[in-house]
Amino acid sequence: MGCKRDNIAQAVALISAIPGVNIKNISSLYETEPWGKTDQDKFLNQVIEIETSLPPKELLRELQNIEIKMGRQRQEKWGPRLIDLDILLYGNEVLDDPQLIIPHPHMRERLFVLVPLAEIGADLRFPDNGATVREVLSSVLAREGNRGIERI
Ligand code: ATP
Ligand code: CA
Ligand code: CA
Repeated sequence: MGCKRDNIAQAVALISAIPGVNIKNISSLYETEPWGKTDQDKFLNQVIEIETSLPPKELLRELQNIEIKMGRQRQEKWGPRLIDLDILLYGNEVLDDPQLIIPHPHMRERLFVLVPLAEIGADLRFPDNGATVREVLSSVLAREGNRGIERI
């Protein structure tokens, strides 16, 4: 919601200010069709790579603090929001806690994740089955085509 570009820029600035976090790489911005709940405005997505000394749950807590600081309210699932900060991968870790699932549980079905992720991390491997991001993206593209994802 709001000026999506500014919201993402603000979130990236706040992430870079987290103690123990260094930003290593940032994808382009992608304007994407809504996923899961399709009767709403387009979304803006970006993937960043960080290096961090924080364990996964502490990182999630910091990201959630940023969401709150930026004014995100709890809303309907997959609906419009000011900002949404998710952890996609964390090194080779696999976590299956309801509070934090890594790799992110829906990322392999989401072109709005896979396309920007492939821009900065095509050779990354999923720790659970060893597939690369490039391979997973190719199989989703073969199935669905590249619909509704526009690099801006
Ligand atoms: P989705 O998870 O499908 O992308 P969402 O991002 O809209 O949906 P939220 O309401 O932002 O969902 O998050 C719901 C909960 O998901 C969070 O409170 C968090 O504990 C949990 N969660 C589980 N795995 C992750 C992850 N990898 N990154 C961020 N949050 C996660
Ligand atoms: Ca999300
Ligand atoms: Ca989220």
